[in-house]
Amino acid sequence: MKNYFNDPRPITIRYQANCAECNAKLKKGLSAYYWPSDGKLYCLTCGESEYRQFLSAAADEEVYNIIGNPLSW
Ligand SMILES: [Zn+2]
Repeated sequence: MKNYFNDPRPITIRYQANCAECNAKLKKGLSAYYWPSDGKLYCLTCGESEYRQFLSAAADEEVYNIIGNPLSW
């Protein structure tokens, strides 16, 4: 399986920041989405659709890897 170290993930905010998309204030203790690859934080509204896209893309990739590589069986 691929290394997903750089994948976006939901986090709890440890320091106040702004959403990289809509610039909304993200307060400490709230949930947000974090993209380690570019170091950006997104509020739940902005982050959720992208995060879902990522999850479905990752799932597709996994299916592709299983079906598309018979040598791995
Ligand atoms: Zn936002």
